[in-house]
Amino acid sequence: MTSEDDERTAGDGNRHPTPLRSYGVSRGGVAHDIDIDEVESEPAEPGTRVERVAEAFKQVLIALDLDVTDPNLAATHVRVARAYEELFAGLRQGAGPTYRSFPNTEHYSQMVSVIDVPFFSLCAHHFLPFFGSAHVAYIPGDRIVGLSKLARLVDFYARRPQIQERMTEQIVTCLNKRLTPKGAMVVLQARHFCMEMRGVSKPGVLTTTSALSGAFEEERVRQEFLSLLPSRTSLG
Ligand SMILES: [Zn+2]
Repeated sequence: MTSEDDERTAGDGNRHPTPLRSYGVSRGGVAHDIDIDEVESEPAEPGTRVERVAEAFKQVLIALDLDVTDPNLAATHVRVARAYEELFAGLRQGAGPTYRSFPNTEHYSQMVSVIDVPFFSLCAHHFLPFFGSAHVAYIPGDRIVGLSKLARLVDFYARRPQIQERMTEQIVTCLNKRLTPKGAMVVLQARHFCMEMRGVSKPGVLTTTSALSGAFEEERVRQEFLSLLPSRTSLG
């Protein structure tokens, strides 16, 4: 992996829609977000998607009989719209999981994996967070990719209203398409707030999904990957 490679991926949809801002934390551990709040509360630029989402969300607040003149709610619709731009960066027009792959000149043929890649997404059914860990593996064919790009790939597919099962398959499909590996496998373990906050399920329960292709159809190969996964029952 080279620095040039990293630059190449700068446009893969993981960028902030606005310049990066730092969240200051005081000694007491309390975030003082006054500066950020000022930026996020500025009126949306006319004609943009942020403006359209903000106006629509204002109607949601009004429909909930909330007082949108309350200082705490007055700019909420704009903040939500800006947050969506970031959380749904994977939807932005032209955004794609662009990463450079390299010829496998060393003919590396062993399993390559990244374990415990954290991800955050929103479920498409309720627009509530689901988050957890992604475990990604592939067995190289003609091309290989930097390990950090596997994490970026996870992030790209997480940043949209998502279904865990679909996200799992999208990552495998993308790896197959871009790298034509001998096989690929993805396991996602996640907590879903739409289950936990609504009391359908016990808090902390993990939903596990997996998708695989090629060599991972073989029990021995699959077990090699699964043996690398952390054994735990819930994500803290
Ligand atoms: Zn849901």
